[in-house]
Amino acid sequence: MNRPIRVRIDLAALAHNLLIARRRAPRSQVLAVIKANAYGHGLLRAARALQDADGFAVLDLDAAIRLRESRFRRRIVLLQGFYAYDELPVIAENRLTVVIHHQEQIAMLASAWLPVKVDVFLKINTGMNRLGFKPSAFSAALRALQANRLIGDITLMTHFAGADEAGGAVAQLTEFNKWCGDLGLPCSMANSAAILNTPATHAEWVRPGIMLYGASPFQERAHSEFDLIPAMTLSSEIIAVQQLDHSDAVGYGANYRSDGARRVGIVACGYADGYPRLAPTGTPVLVDGQRTQTLGRVSMDMLCVDLLALPQAGVGSPVVLWGEGLAVDEVAQKAGTLGYELLCALAPRVPVIEV
Ligand SMILES: *Cc1c(COP(=O)(O)O)cnc(C)c1O
Repeated sequence: MNRPIRVRIDLAALAHNLLIARRRAPRSQVLAVIKANAYGHGLLRAARALQDADGFAVLDLDAAIRLRESRFRRRIVLLQGFYAYDELPVIAENRLTVVIHHQEQIAMLASAWLPVKVDVFLKINTGMNRLGFKPSAFSAALRALQANRLIGDITLMTHFAGADEAGGAVAQLTEFNKWCGDLGLPCSMANSAAILNTPATHAEWVRPGIMLYGASPFQERAHSEFDLIPAMTLSSEIIAVQQLDHSDAVGYGANYRSDGARRVGIVACGYADGYPRLAPTGTPVLVDGQRTQTLGRVSMDMLCVDLLALPQAGVGSPVVLWGEGLAVDEVAQKAGTLGYELLCALAPRVPVIEV
């Protein structure tokens, strides 16, 4: 028998979460963000579950081609556009939309010969200072694209640095509207946080990522507040039980010592499966559907859980690390990170079950 660790991906939950995004932004088209292997859920699996989206956003040309090969015919946006001239024929042939965020890309497009027009999302940097044209360079970039006969549709976009904080998108929204508001072109601004809390950002295209997977983009607000359903459940089983006496330690570094007699369950899940090594003693976990906590350090293939209050639990008891019944965001917060990182970091060695 194989190790009992599994990840269950709930396709109906993905479809449900897409509907929540649509309900929140009823006048917008939805560009479902499935970069990073669909935040760890599997690119084509997620694409199938989210096939009613108006488009998909990915990073890699390879991912975009795989989507076309599996007969997804709507818009596919490459979020970083292209990096080199020789990608352009493949982009045109596969009718991909490219984000244009840098002058070099405009120069490459100006000297290209392509059999069909390429649609673009022109990105303006309204304060994130990562990708995009500064407002002072934006008008010239737009004019260059409009003058290029190879360019098809133009959509204007920006990305928010702080849409997860109350009022955190306002300054960037104001800046965006100042430069893009009355140009008569379609616009795209909102990520999950802005979809959920800043309707003024919705415009023609919204770009939900994390919410589609049923996790919250906000530190202080749970996914359930928005009726989102977690799509990924990481589970395993207890494979051994230890009986600790007072002051016995468990795990590497002996950084947890029991304050009395205590049963400890050893779970087949570790950081090589994508569980965060920095999750401290006290990180929540479900055993037999009941909440308990981790004890000591997470090791590569195992972690330890407290069975003091679970006398019935033993070898073979089911364990949920995150997902149904335990929000990934709660685990992430304990480990000093975000649900985003845990979902994306799920290891390829974990067998997937689709439901
Ligand atoms: C990843 C990404 C998104 C989705 O962000 P979430 O916070 O996961 O909703 C939207 N737009 C861009 C440009 C992105 O890179």
